[in-house]
Amino acid sequence: MSYLPFTKPTLDEATIQGVTEVLRSGWLSSGPKVKEFEAALSEYFGGRTVRAFNSGTATLEVALQLCDIGPGDEVITTPMSWVATANVILHVGAKPVFVDIDPLTRNIDLDLIEAAITPNTKAIIPVDLAGLPVDRDRLYAIAEKHRLRVIEDAAQSMGATWQGKKIGSFGDLISFSFHANKNMTTGEGGCLVLSDAAQIPLAEKLRLQGVERFPDGTMDVDVAGGKYNLTDIAARIGLGQLKQVDAFNSRRRELVKHYFACFDRSMGCELPQEDFAGSNWHMFQILLPLDRMRISRGEFIEQMKQREIGVGVHYPCIHLFSLFRSMGFMKGDFPEAEKIGNETVTLPLFPAMELTDVERVCTAIKEIIEASRK
Ligand SMILES: *Cc1c(COP(=O)(O)O)cnc(C)c1O
Repeated sequence: MSYLPFTKPTLDEATIQGVTEVLRSGWLSSGPKVKEFEAALSEYFGGRTVRAFNSGTATLEVALQLCDIGPGDEVITTPMSWVATANVILHVGAKPVFVDIDPLTRNIDLDLIEAAITPNTKAIIPVDLAGLPVDRDRLYAIAEKHRLRVIEDAAQSMGATWQGKKIGSFGDLISFSFHANKNMTTGEGGCLVLSDAAQIPLAEKLRLQGVERFPDGTMDVDVAGGKYNLTDIAARIGLGQLKQVDAFNSRRRELVKHYFACFDRSMGCELPQEDFAGSNWHMFQILLPLDRMRISRGEFIEQMKQREIGVGVHYPCIHLFSLFRSMGFMKGDFPEAEKIGNETVTLPLFPAMELTDVERVCTAIKEIIEASRK
């Protein structure tokens, strides 16, 4: 049996051909394909202003800079995310303030946000974990009440919806990642949706060394921008992927429905919230019943690997990494997030998978858990 990874991008021949054409064109860095990609993304998000970047992390960092967030400021976010979400807050010199998650959605617990707000709080960075959108109505109600900016870390929720509206088609600043593991990819890349078109020049300067070019060929620099521009090669991959992302997401939903149908719930695993209205099913994550098993999560993953099945861990809690412990965070601070961090495993899910692959995964899990029962 061939190895089943936990994720794999799907690239069609037209995209591969298109990339070849870019390679032959002589223009590899940011050029016409980036402009075309940004226009296509803007259309996807209902006509909003979009700029492409070379990573999701870069879009988050630039979003913080656009909100003028820096030393002395606090930003509220979740400890259950990829570490990028918190690293960018540190990069701009601000302080991450973590709020525990809601065990049902595994996203930031909206009931706990207000207690974490101080006079220094400037923004909230919610994360749509596994592609399940945070409740945008409640989120923006809190933000408006306390005059906070919202930087949506929608790295995982491309194509997901809230109340029928695409994530990215409304809201303050919305950041997407096109890393190879995301629902659509440019290899590495990302995009930022801006609510205020007046900020486009600053966003573009922050993206590329702060440079502003004038028609007479001269230039000026008045801000120390980064080096965050996307290549035309990557943009061409993105153009091909964007056409397919809704189909990719429908396929993911079909596969997830099959997971729910095949999964033997008597084993005691906790399954994700069954959401077929909003989520783009970036990941299918279960919590292992470790208290009833004689093996650790690491051994479970190893045994899955022996059966040629790849399993991921998304994520160890951010606040328990040594960098964040050195800032005073400790075990026990966010018990709900820590439970997920300890027990979660990400099962294979990607558009090219077959329904029989889902069955193979479910059978393997059942065999391993039953053989290791206490
Ligand atoms: C992938 C991801 C990022 C970072 O995106 P990159 O493109 O890898 O920089 C940030 N936040 C979350 C939640 C992610 O999943």
